[in-house]
Amino acid sequence: MSVRDRRKRFLGQALYSNRSQIALRLLTREKRPIDRAFLAERIQTAADYRRQVVQDSEAFRLVASEGDVLPSLVIDRYGEYLVVQTLSQGMERLKPIITDILQEKFSPRGVVERNDVVVRSLEALEQAKGVLSGEAPEEVIVSINGLRFAFNLLEGQKTGGFLDQRENYRAAQSYAFGRALDCFTYAGGFALHISRCCDSVLGIDSSQDALRLAQRNADLNGISNVEWKEANCFDFLKAADQAGERFDVVVLDPPAFARQRSNLDSALRGYKELNLRGLKILNPGGYLITCSCSYHVTEADFLETIASAAVDAHRTVTVVERRTQGRDHPILLTVPETLYLKCLILRAL
Ligand code: SAH
Repeated sequence: MSVRDRRKRFLGQALYSNRSQIALRLLTREKRPIDRAFLAERIQTAADYRRQVVQDSEAFRLVASEGDVLPSLVIDRYGEYLVVQTLSQGMERLKPIITDILQEKFSPRGVVERNDVVVRSLEALEQAKGVLSGEAPEEVIVSINGLRFAFNLLEGQKTGGFLDQRENYRAAQSYAFGRALDCFTYAGGFALHISRCCDSVLGIDSSQDALRLAQRNADLNGISNVEWKEANCFDFLKAADQAGERFDVVVLDPPAFARQRSNLDSALRGYKELNLRGLKILNPGGYLITCSCSYHVTEADFLETIASAAVDAHRTVTVVERRTQGRDHPILLTVPETLYLKCLILRAL
């Protein structure tokens, strides 16, 4: 619909929602039909950009909502398969055209929707999951940074996997050595990437399905120096510290602790505890690679929290790198919510 200011001057065109707090999502400042040609052009622009920033990877975010000026539309590419999320009423209505465009442009073997996400309820949209066109096998194998990963697009977490850490896997690889620990490993993303540079890696997750996937991925790459353990990471870290276990690299990539601003305080306590425990079991000269995907926790909050954990752990720590999500998840300058992932690489002296 057209958006006008109080004096009826045209401002642009937006998707409208009669339910969400976000009533309008701006699509364009121009007067032009929001039709197939418009959407195809935006999707093509997004795809062209990925060709510039994605290397050696068949799995990446093809369309990242506001970051590609297609608010509330997410499209992840897993090789010959595409996974779509339409997260607002307006985008939901455009879903058939979008599926059609994807079929025409990319000739995928299958387009899947993973609209089984709670934010849809804020739009009064139902939960939905299934094949929109073509087929969806139980397992899709794709390369990420040259490693092979299997994902289940219909049953896996998110759209099958977490694609936003792709560049951070590489960064982690460049520091890793010795004995490493990957907490919240899911499909083994960090663990498998750093395994080549480490003597041994231990990946922890509370989900058995995740660890099955992680082992499958280790097998696919012929990696044998990685072990998996089903555990609550908080409990594991505490027990490891008490048992005097030490690691040269600790990766912490938990799920978002602050999904709402009202959870911020308890989220920061969670991050502090986790990082305190992570620092305690780190050898001198070792690296802590620590992440937060909670938008409400700013980088400054996160740094302050870890600083306070370091003080409590009696550790002297330097900040080696301050990183964020991969470039296939673009940050829109005027929409701060699009910068959500923090990934700090720290070194304990
Ligand atoms: N590092 C992963 C993504 C992690 S997502 C990657 O790069 O792909 C968060 C993971 O943490 C999920 O797999 C979830 O099963 C797991 N998880 C959530 N709470 C947990 C807990 N308390 N202890 C261990 N694992 C947990």
